Amino acid sequence: MAHVVTSPCFGCKYTDCVVVCPVEAFREGEQMLYIEPDVCIDCGACEPECPVSAIYYEDDVPEDQRPFIALNAEMSKACPPIYQKREPLAGRPD
Ligand code: SF4
Ligand code: SF4
Repeated sequence: MAHVVTSPCFGCKYTDCVVVCPVEAFREGEQMLYIEPDVCIDCGACEPECPVSAIYYEDDVPEDQRPFIALNAEMSKACPPIYQKREPLAGRPD
């Protein structure tokens, strides 16, 4: 079991979630982040940090988001780790 990042994460550039993870389980894809299920210890710390509620405990992933369980497992193996909160790009309009 692990926590899973789902579709509301698409396009997030703030990455509030990654800094609270004690085991550095987040991976950075081009469009969203993924959680490496073999690394996640299910501490739950990241879940309330996400402003768009994109992170779920695996058993709690909504039905229409279930494909993201396999997607996190697959994509987290192919994407680089992200450890630090990414600041918004300079000049980015608010
Ligand atoms: S805070 Fe939420 S939306 Fe932003 S990168 Fe993390 S999981 Fe994705
Ligand atoms: S549940 Fe805990 S260990 Fe898993 S990704 Fe979130 S913060 Fe990291």
